[in-house]
Amino acid sequence: MGKKRVIFYLIDGARPDILQKYAQQGHLPNMKKHFLEEGSYTKGTTCFPSTTGPAYLPYLCGSFPGDHHITGIRWFDKDAFKKGRWGRNAMRSYCGYEAKYFNEDMNPDYPSLFETYPGGLNIYNMITKGVEEENDLTRVGKSKLYTRAHFKKIHHPVDKLGHARLMEAIENEFQFIFAVFPSIDWDSHYHHYDHEETLEAYKIADQSVGEVIQKLEEKNWLDDTLIVMASDHGLTSTKVHLDVAKFFRKQGYRTLAYPTIWTLFPQVAVFISGNSFASVSFLDQEGFYFTDQLMKKHGQALTAFVENEAIDFILTRKNATDISVINKDGEALIKVKDGQMSYEAITANPLGLENTNKWLNDKEAFDYCFDSDYPDAFVQIKQLFASHRSGDVVVSANVGYDLRDFWEIPEHLGSHGSLHKEHIHVPILMNKKDLLPQPIRTTEVYHLIRSHLDG
Ligand SMILES: [Zn+2]
Repeated sequence: MGKKRVIFYLIDGARPDILQKYAQQGHLPNMKKHFLEEGSYTKGTTCFPSTTGPAYLPYLCGSFPGDHHITGIRWFDKDAFKKGRWGRNAMRSYCGYEAKYFNEDMNPDYPSLFETYPGGLNIYNMITKGVEEENDLTRVGKSKLYTRAHFKKIHHPVDKLGHARLMEAIENEFQFIFAVFPSIDWDSHYHHYDHEETLEAYKIADQSVGEVIQKLEEKNWLDDTLIVMASDHGLTSTKVHLDVAKFFRKQGYRTLAYPTIWTLFPQVAVFISGNSFASVSFLDQEGFYFTDQLMKKHGQALTAFVENEAIDFILTRKNATDISVINKDGEALIKVKDGQMSYEAITANPLGLENTNKWLNDKEAFDYCFDSDYPDAFVQIKQLFASHRSGDVVVSANVGYDLRDFWEIPEHLGSHGSLHKEHIHVPILMNKKDLLPQPIRTTEVYHLIRSHLDG
């Protein structure tokens, strides 16, 4: 038996239904043949928030954003802020120059595949912990290409260059390659998730897989190579924007939010991720707020907030272990005990699930929620609230809405980040048979990669 290898294609923002549709229509012949027909496919679940960056962590580390205290593409740390607002760990936005802190912010208890398998090669992925500089194959020229892609909406050359780097890389010995193809996400944001430009982005990834497989065959490496293709979140089209920071300002709160983080004497901090997820922290109290106290102090603003049509539900800590799920109709509870979970509608049923009437472990909780509107809701809420950086209030937007104003240039027409199935479900494909007999979390992909490389 030859040396075991893995090539991971992270097709950012691909939706399972769209990928399958394009494959059935004959647009993606390589994915159809090597994955859907001769390999394995399942619809999996990503993490909460379902947003680029944090949602790569399950694949690369087998752990969730909450495990790393990287609770969004932007986060706020009330404890650290109270100690000194300009402290290094008071707040973060990985969208700008602070992206470079992502690696250091990661929890060393969950090493990346690059650390476990030294010598791994990286293409465009922002998480480079454990990647030696010369193995970060797109580090030169990436920011220029990305800027042009962003402002001029010229996306596809980025993926095509990534493919070229990938082809060069597999000329030589390798063990693990992680390649991000970002255009499906970008085209979906700036056009639509089902648009001719987006289709073109899927086709680039498809063609890449075809050429890579042909090359591996020539080298006689294909049998020992596991090719994984997966995305980090779904995406829905955005029709209405509700700017959460503006909302709280209108309610009379001095509000700290990117990009105006210098607000004096802020009363509330609002941090948005993927545009359909927000974390809100109230600064008039040290430590966490629990639901009843929070409603006593800020109930007026929060009641008006959940009544807004953009808001699906909010999450708050009921007590030290349990989490309230609150929508405009009322409250339900996710209870957590010894790592197990239960769900009970109290005055409303925001998740639309039957009461569990018993404790569920992680596996049972996955099965319980998978076909609902909120796949893996219990475990995802549990992992997020295990971090002190979750904030006092976590917001999940309704489909069709996002939580920032349209000042972003160019305007986003697509959103993700929420706990809704249209953001949580992701396609997972592999070129080997029988690897995906049932739906899985994206953390399981990490374990499948490890068992291939170690096996
Ligand atoms: Zn993404």
